[in-house]
Amino acid sequence: MPKETPLTPETLELLKQMKSIFVDPVEEERRKEELELRARDREQKKSDRERNHKIETERQAAQKFVQEACTHQRENGSYDLHGQKCCDGKYRFVCALCGCQFTPEHPDYNKLLNHPRTSKNLFGNARQE
Ligand SMILES: [Zn+2]
Repeated sequence: MPKETPLTPETLELLKQMKSIFVDPVEEERRKEELELRARDREQKKSDRERNHKIETERQAAQKFVQEACTHQRENGSYDLHGQKCCDGKYRFVCALCGCQFTPEHPDYNKLLNHPRTSKNLFGNARQE
């Protein structure tokens, strides 16, 4: 096996020149366009993500504002709550006006569930027990 000798700067320069001869300008142009396309695609996706995040943040802020202001009551004073009894025997319900969800952990859960202006019909037949 011949002993490898390090390439001299002259040999390296020669190799570089030889390599440049074999660069296909059409292929090189195609490669550049492909890279530019990918870069634009990345930028577009980043921009979309930022825009979607901004929209979602604003939507959540608006929903929070509405839920905090909502009395969960219709104009006639009755509660506009809809839900059902779950397998644990407890009710889960939402306000039809603001979308606020009420689970047994919610501080107003018992007050709303047992309020005389909360229609028993809204919870289906299960509430009639
Ligand atoms: Zn509400």
